[in-house]
Amino acid sequence: DREKIIMTGVLSLKEKKIRVVMTNLEDVFMLEANRIVDDELVLNVYGFGYSRIPVYEREKDNIVGLVYARDFALPDTESGKFTVRHIMSFCKHRYGTSITPDDSSYDVFNLFKKEQYHLGVVVEYDNTSEKDPRARAVGIVTLEDIIEEMIQEE
Ligand code: ATP
Ligand code: ATP
Repeated sequence: DREKIIMTGVLSLKEKKIRVVMTNLEDVFMLEANRIVDDELVLNVYGFGYSRIPVYEREKDNIVGLVYARDFALPDTESGKFTVRHIMSFCKHRYGTSITPDDSSYDVFNLFKKEQYHLGVVVEYDNTSEKDPRARAVGIVTLEDIIEEMIQEE
């Protein structure tokens, strides 16, 4: 029955690593921080239909923030003066920044609950550079991904 399925799902979360539930970076719809916000961009954002959109700088694995699709309802797209970075600083949204592929989905579920965010960027630490290892994004995980895993029927 349904209760049993959910109980089993919750328990299986402990074993399930983030790497199997996350959305890989190459499938993530993102925006570049310096991109001008024009009508084309706004149509693109609404067209994709995602609520939360990571923002990157230079390289796609360098995620520096998060914008919401709904933030794009406000800015003046005529002036050509607004960039994604402006939106990012006007509308601040919290998200997870130090989740790794080997974390347990159960721990991330609890983190989301505690911190009240719905999305985390999954990172790997680049240990080739001796000092100041850079966190390289490899994907994103949302509350939805984890809940889906929890209520999955075997
Ligand atoms: P909401 O349901 O709150 O409107 P949403 O539909 O945009 O949000 P989620 O429900 O959180 O997104 O996630 C649904 C799936 O889409 C998940 O697998 C998630 O990893 C993926 N996803 C979320 N945002 C993006 C994005 N910007 N690019 C690609 N995939 C995304
Ligand atoms: P996200 O979906 O990414 O978390 P959000 O912050 O807009 O975006 P929720 O996650 O649903 O919305 O809510 C976060 C917290 O803010 C919750 O504790 C919720 O109860 C509270 N909250 C949401 N909307 C309002 C509101 N209009 N007024 C007061 N509190 C709100």
